[in-house]
Amino acid sequence: MAFTSNHSDLKQINRLAVINLVKTQPGISRADLAKRTGLNKSTIGKIVQELLDEHWLQEDHTPTPLNGAGRRPTGLTLNGHVLALLGAEIGVDYITVLACSITGETLFNATLPYQHGNMEASIDQLIELLEHAWRIMDTMNHEVLGLGIAVPGLVNALDEKIIALPNLNWHDVSMIQLLRERFVSKNLPTIPVTILNDANAAALSEFVFGHTQYRRSALVHLTLGIGVGAGIITEKGLYRGFNGWAGEIGHSILQPVNGLRCACGQYGCVETLVSQRALSHAVTGDRQMLSIDALQRRLAKDDEKVKQGLNAVGHYLGIVLRNVANILNPETIVLGGPMSQFGQHLIDPTIQSFKAHTGRNHILPNIQLCEFGHNAAALGAAAAILSQHVEPTGTPTHLTHQGLLR
Ligand SMILES: [Zn+2]
Repeated sequence: MAFTSNHSDLKQINRLAVINLVKTQPGISRADLAKRTGLNKSTIGKIVQELLDEHWLQEDHTPTPLNGAGRRPTGLTLNGHVLALLGAEIGVDYITVLACSITGETLFNATLPYQHGNMEASIDQLIELLEHAWRIMDTMNHEVLGLGIAVPGLVNALDEKIIALPNLNWHDVSMIQLLRERFVSKNLPTIPVTILNDANAAALSEFVFGHTQYRRSALVHLTLGIGVGAGIITEKGLYRGFNGWAGEIGHSILQPVNGLRCACGQYGCVETLVSQRALSHAVTGDRQMLSIDALQRRLAKDDEKVKQGLNAVGHYLGIVLRNVANILNPETIVLGGPMSQFGQHLIDPTIQSFKAHTGRNHILPNIQLCEFGHNAAALGAAAAILSQHVEPTGTPTHLTHQGLLR
């Protein structure tokens, strides 16, 4: 494991700063690292050598031109060949486990449909997939840095206990403790584990591995499915709020009068107007839930009700995004989750509504589809482990706190 108590806090912060700079500015030279960090060249030289030895970094061996005067300084990039991350998503009716490199390349990926009635059985299935992923990483000589798990519900920001997964009926679960017991019983190595909300995880997938990673600017990622959640990214990383509830946008109220009753007990929540359930309701006229596949098949046949339903969802989604833009002023708003599969059929009415509800002097954020499709939450959970390694603030104790056996 790269970060242990052998490193003083200050040295660790310097290492994190170097990794972060190389990640966000691939090809950066040692001299530029010294300038950017304010550290002297010999300190940077030692840190870079350590990180090369530990396979965090690699040197860009672009040869100096033969004719050439002036030797090009050796650039540094993240080394995607040795260190790996595990990510998992516990969905409402599936479990996804993947492994990826620290550069975001997927090395293993498996999704199992499952019934969530029995929590113990679900965790057993999760462990089985994780063990499989682990063995494959071992065979490929990858060193696993940690495991991130995305869950559809509320997670306590301080101790990472699951407060509630309403759609699974799981409440007050010490998942890290459960995993620790399973890992020990299977003689699996101890690694840091982090648990986070699925919308937050999906947002991290964009921030850590997506095209926006080099811009380091504010981003909001909406996960649109049966529920609706938002992950909020600031220039410094994920914003979880005072106790982890930030981004619960699905239960902000758009239609307090004459609104439909939401699963949370309130009326007219965003989820009742902008979700798979809302679209199904628009198509069938009752509470029957249609699958995304079924809705897409109807759309492919030019079903008017689906088109009208998507226009209605886009209408309200445009208002939601307008409110988000007014409060947070993000550079980019990413639409992800199952509903994002409707692509332009959803984005076009959304942007139209955003503009129609916007006054003068307002700049439209970039509104785009998620790059990572149905893997976004699992990939983002893996990214959460990486961001603990590359964000130079407050990470060492956090990692120790949640490490399985530390
Ligand atoms: Zn609600």
